[in-house]
Amino acid sequence: MDIKKLMVANPIIDKMTECREIFWINPKAGAEASLPFGMSDIEDAEKRLARFAPYIASAFPETAKSGGIIESNLVEIEKMKPFLEHYCGKFDGRLFLKCDSHLPISGSIKARGGIYEVLKLAETIATEKGLLSPDDDYSKLNSDKFRELFSRYSVAVGSTGNLGLSIGIISAKLGFNVTVHMSADARQWKKDLLRSKGATVIEYPDDYQKAVAEGRKEAASDPMCHFVDDEGSQDLFLGYSVAAKRLIPQLKNADITVDKDHPLFVYIPCGVGGAPGGVAFGLKEILGDNVHVLFAEPTHAPCMTLGLITGLHDGIAVRDIGLDGITDADGLAVGRPSRLVGTIMDTLLDGCYTIDDTRLYKFLAQLADREKIYIEPSACASFTGPSLIASSEDYIKVHDLKDKMADSTHILWATGGSMVPDEEMKLYYERGK
Ligand SMILES: *Cc1c(COP(=O)(O)O)cnc(C)c1O
Repeated sequence: MDIKKLMVANPIIDKMTECREIFWINPKAGAEASLPFGMSDIEDAEKRLARFAPYIASAFPETAKSGGIIESNLVEIEKMKPFLEHYCGKFDGRLFLKCDSHLPISGSIKARGGIYEVLKLAETIATEKGLLSPDDDYSKLNSDKFRELFSRYSVAVGSTGNLGLSIGIISAKLGFNVTVHMSADARQWKKDLLRSKGATVIEYPDDYQKAVAEGRKEAASDPMCHFVDDEGSQDLFLGYSVAAKRLIPQLKNADITVDKDHPLFVYIPCGVGGAPGGVAFGLKEILGDNVHVLFAEPTHAPCMTLGLITGLHDGIAVRDIGLDGITDADGLAVGRPSRLVGTIMDTLLDGCYTIDDTRLYKFLAQLADREKIYIEPSACASFTGPSLIASSEDYIKVHDLKDKMADSTHILWATGGSMVPDEEMKLYYERGK
């Protein structure tokens, strides 16, 4: 790879190598492209989750009040807005937080895709054995008979933490043998929690890619083992995409209009790209050009941004431009983007930006003080987004938004945090004060 040549073609990479914050507008956004999925795939995933709702409600009593549907609130954060305007720059429009940080069962956005993939696996196995059909009440899966069936199979995954939590918790609950390969970035409490749920946790001193590679290796040697491939799984991606479908009624309930005169901006922290990519895909399928989706990454690990700028996707890693990939945003500590998602985002994503680690804690503490909402550092990566858009004359011009920003809505997607132990959260908070 000729890095010098890439830098000449894309001067912004220079800034990235110096770990400075950048804002990048995707010149290919909105271009024609043939995507591997469509609306029917999102609907199929949504129906599968509905079939499983009675099981989820029965196996995880905390979801009973939502009928076994794993969903989060959309909350207006009016008190946070003045702080963001003061600290990052003025912007017009209403400001909301999408609280995937408080999704039941595993407290992060991974409770969407991760749980979905394992449910689909369980459905496939049980259906093949002639023990389950789509019209059944799936709560019957919460029984010794099915746990015994699934105990003959295993699930493996490599993770920086939150995906492991989701896969580990749902797999163990169903009865699967589950092994989570954890990268060095993974927090101790996540490993402890997983072990307490019955998952096997294997730790590596290396980064996320190594953990994934080990998971893949384990599964390859065992025909009874399903590998959850965070770097390319279609099931994960489609599980995440259902979030978009469910957001539509929430927008309506909050009196948010989305049309060509009322743009919606959605800002999502990005690691390997699966979670934000799935949500972005779903939103674009449903709302088209009226929704603008941007990804946020740490300055030390901007893998999706780098893949998109160069057009090389998973063919380039942050190490190739001299970055170490080390960040306090453990959920985003990824050096190379998903091979599935990069190409899909090529024409769907409107832009990317990066953030310095030290600012994450400030957002975390201010959100706690002003809104009484506690989220993890990774989930704060997107908070500069609305100010960046408002101050980008280029973005406003390219998308013809000049007269529309006053009627815009901004959603910061909070991707994780409610399972962080109090002690740990206190340390984050104090750092931010
Ligand atoms: C995993 C994760 C993300 C990003 O998801 P990817 O699929 O890795 O892009 C963002 N925030 C948190 C808290 C996460 O755990």
